[in-house]
Amino acid sequence: MAKVKKLTSFQAPKGMHDLLPQDQVWWDKFRKEVKEVVEFYNFARIDTPILEDAALFERSVGEATDIVEKQMFVFRTKGDDRLVLRPEGTASVMRAYIQHGLSHMGQPLKLFYEGPLFRYERPQAGRYRQFHQFGLEILGGDDDPIYEVQVIVPILRILESLKLKKMVVKVNTIGCKTCRPVYIKKLQDYYKGFTKQICKDCNRRLHTNPLRLLDCKEPDCQKIKQGAPSILDSICSFCNKHFKSFLEYVEELGLPYQLDVTLVRGLDYYNRTVFEVFIEGSDAALASGGRYDYLAEILGGRSTPAVGGAIGIERVLEAMKASGMQPTVKNRAKIFLIYIGALAKKRMLSLLEEFRKSNIHVSESFGKNSLNAQLRSANKDGAALALILGQKEAFEGSVIIRDLKTGVQETVPLKKIVVEIKKRI
Ligand code: AMP
Repeated sequence: MAKVKKLTSFQAPKGMHDLLPQDQVWWDKFRKEVKEVVEFYNFARIDTPILEDAALFERSVGEATDIVEKQMFVFRTKGDDRLVLRPEGTASVMRAYIQHGLSHMGQPLKLFYEGPLFRYERPQAGRYRQFHQFGLEILGGDDDPIYEVQVIVPILRILESLKLKKMVVKVNTIGCKTCRPVYIKKLQDYYKGFTKQICKDCNRRLHTNPLRLLDCKEPDCQKIKQGAPSILDSICSFCNKHFKSFLEYVEELGLPYQLDVTLVRGLDYYNRTVFEVFIEGSDAALASGGRYDYLAEILGGRSTPAVGGAIGIERVLEAMKASGMQPTVKNRAKIFLIYIGALAKKRMLSLLEEFRKSNIHVSESFGKNSLNAQLRSANKDGAALALILGQKEAFEGSVIIRDLKTGVQETVPLKKIVVEIKKRI
């Protein structure tokens, strides 16, 4: 017989987290800054389903990537569709762009999204199985590197507005269809001399996804990486020109960048510019992205140059907390409604709605009939004023306004209470 789980032993799935009420102030702060930035830079919101056809990512992100090989939550539906909890946002956005013919809208189309993603990873600090990204995509421009900058700048502005300091954008180019194979051959030839020294994964990558050799964090592989040929010596003149103009734009704006020729990014669909944003001294990227000119065609659409990038929201919130910042909580005038007796309780129900119509924020604990219990709730809530409606007041049509700090109270007609409160807040 299947073991019955004790009810109390249920936990959120491994690597997935509840966002409790006390966590929400951080998310609100993040979303507030994002809203201002996307509005300024004219990005429009897009939301795609959390589930997608598994083949969407297999084709675009690439069969030999960690995401597709190891990290997807794939399942069969009752109708025998093979779906996946989306592991990343870009392929979904491009799928929607093609599906809905968004190329007929003014191009380039600047889109943003925010939502949960799922990767079956070994959970650790800053790496979860359900996490959230805020992403920007510019689709259907041409191959002008100004678009890379138009993705990186809003990302940096958001991080700056969250008071994160010492940001650095690592940048590299990974070439195009023409020049990348030349580089990959050179890289393979170099690594073939070290098959005994490099790790098992790298021996596999050597054949399945050679660029990822440069991504390996194993100390022995890192040493060998130092002597690897640089992609900058292999890229074609078009990619070279593209990367140079990109760097000129970056310098024009004085963005804090660092060239890192070993930055390759894990996904197959990138070409030319790739980037990752870090806080100096940390090796956990807060954001990353790149150009992906071939993705539309891989997914069966027309050739559509595009650039995108995404911020890992949990990592940013962790960095905000580590920097000692405190999100400000909106200080609302705290008014607490208190009643004594059944008639007063009914009147209070309507009074609450009157305050709502007048857009005045009030709190209550209507389920608690005892006066003391209600006063305790008012205290816990940090209320400044209590409006007390006793039986006598309910009959007379009046209400007591009590200053909870000084204890001073005054009785006013119930009909005038909203006006009276407006005077005091
Ligand atoms: P990627 O989609 O892999 O380019 O990641 C973009 C950003 O999302 C990274 O720079 C991280 O900040 C964040 N990120 C990626 N994977 C995870 C994860 N498993 N848990 C938390 N954040 C993640």
